[in-house]
Parts: sequence; structure tokens; C-alpha cells
Amino acid sequence: VLGAVIVLRVVWVFPVTYASRLVPRVARNDPAPSWRVPALISWTGMRGVVTLAAVFVLPPETPQRETLILIALVVTAGTLLLQGSTLPWLVRRLELAGPDRAVDTLAEAALFQRAARQGLAELDRLLTGDEPPDVVDRLRRRGLDRADAVWERLGATSETPSAVYARLRARMIDAERAEVLVARDSGEVPDDILRTVLGALDVEETVLDRVAEMNSAERSDELTAARADGCAHLRASPALDRPPQAEGCTGCLEVGRRDWVHLRMCLTCGYLGCCDSSPLRHADEHHIERRHPVMRSAEPGEAWRWCYVDELLG
Ligand SMILES: [Zn+2]
Ligand SMILES: [Zn+2]
Ligand SMILES: [Zn+2]
Repeated sequence: VLGAVIVLRVVWVFPVTYASRLVPRVARNDPAPSWRVPALISWTGMRGVVTLAAVFVLPPETPQRETLILIALVVTAGTLLLQGSTLPWLVRRLELAGPDRAVDTLAEAALFQRAARQGLAELDRLLTGDEPPDVVDRLRRRGLDRADAVWERLGATSETPSAVYARLRARMIDAERAEVLVARDSGEVPDDILRTVLGALDVEETVLDRVAEMNSAERSDELTAARADGCAHLRASPALDRPPQAEGCTGCLEVGRRDWVHLRMCLTCGYLGCCDSSPLRHADEHHIERRHPVMRSAEPGEAWRWCYVDELLG
């Protein structure tokens, strides 16, 4: 019976896992997992309290009650001991890992970037030329800040510019809130005005918290982009076998600076430039000057490419 219980679970978990993907909608939203996932689920069918409880509430006149209790005990103890004790070993053997946060971050950065471009395009359409230039600058900067912050989380070894911003701004908000509370305690400001001001500070702090908690994605393998069909540029550009040549951003080193954040390499000519979170953004400048479409990340452990023209990972 113990053997039958274990085998039966393997027999139904596999067909159910893959049969549900025959429905096109399910397959599109949740692609079929590798065989390792149903294999693991098959092995996690430990029987326990419910089986035992069920058998003990059998009425005393049930035929073969003693035998049924014995079977329940054997199955419960057997699945717990055999499957429970070998589960960690199975997880290691199947090399199953939790969802890779770095891969999610990469996809998130690409989407923020796409959205930010549309926001900037809308800004360009709205501008009449009469707006104060510093306001326009702030709007442009604001549109790209969020995308830049997500890109920075990739490959970050030291504190990124966004993280420095979040850390210092959080301390400023603490001081601002303390001052508002002083005003409250003195009774000089009406309640609804206090609530409005404190609410605004809370909202900004919440956004900062989210940036801070999303920092430092860990990973064991090389970070690659999810395979997609890509665009003509990605298909035409070389694979990722050429390692970066120079020791830093070409443009920054020429002017004696070393304050870049991350490095990107042009896959057309090999130019090594700094990312959009770096002060001088040489990789982007190189694309604008030369029209070379595709770059790769030149950060250690990262092997993803980016098409500037189509704003696409590949
Ligand atoms: Zn492209
Ligand atoms: Zn640079
Ligand atoms: Zn180039």
C-alpha cells in the first residue's frame, strides 16, 4: 500500500501538470515547467494527520478495522520517513532554485524603460516652447529616474546612486516629520492641515522603502535575458562571446574620470561606455552618435543585450 500511494501521486501529477497547458490561455500565461517541477511535487505527498484521524473515527464494528489502522500507520510513517527525509536531497539533485530575482529585475527595467520613452514622447508633444527650461529638465529627469533606478540594481556591488538618494532622503523625511510633529504639539496648526502634510511625507517615504527593499538581487548563474523573438538588430548582432576589452568607460577615462556606475559594450564596434545612471552616460551617447543599435552588459556575471532602437532585451 505504501508503494502504491507514492507511485499513484507520480502518475497523476505529471499528466495534470502538462495537460492543463494544452489549454492555450494557460500555456501563454504560465509556460510549462521543466519535468523537475512535477517530479518534486510528486515526491511531496506526505500523508499525515488526516489519514490517521480518518481511520480512527471508523465505527468499532467496521470489518478489518485493526488492519486498516495498521495500513494508515504504515503509510503515514512511511511517506513521512522515506519522502520527508529524502526531500532536501531531491531538491539538490533536481537543481531547483527559487525564482531568480535578477531575471525579474532585468525584465522590470526593460518595461520601465519602454514606458519612460512613451512618457518623454508625450512630453515632447505637449511642450509649446514657452515652458521654463528648468521645469522641462526636471520633467525629463523624472521620467527616466525610475527606469534608471531599476537598471542600477543589476550588477550593483557598491551602493548605487539611487540607493544613496533613498538613504539620505529617508533621513530628511524623518527630520521634516519631526518638525511637523513639533508644530502639532504646540497646537498652532489645525488638524486637517497636519494630516495633509504628514500624508504627503508618508507617501514619499513608502516609495523610498520600495527602492531600498528591491536592492541587491542575488544570483548564482550568469544573468541572461529571457529568450524572446527579438528584433532584426538583435538577430543580426553577434552573440555574447566577445568579452569586454578595455578596463573602464572609454569616454570617462579620456577626461580622467572613474565615477561610472555600470559598463556597457557596443556589439557593433566594441566601444565600452558607461550606463545611463552614470554622470556622463557614454554608452547612450555612443549610440546617438554612431547609430550602433545593440549593446551588451559588460558587468561581471551578466550576459544580456539591449537594442536601443526597439528598446528590447535579448
Ligand atoms: Zn532592434
Ligand atoms: Zn563614461
Ligand atoms: Zn559602437
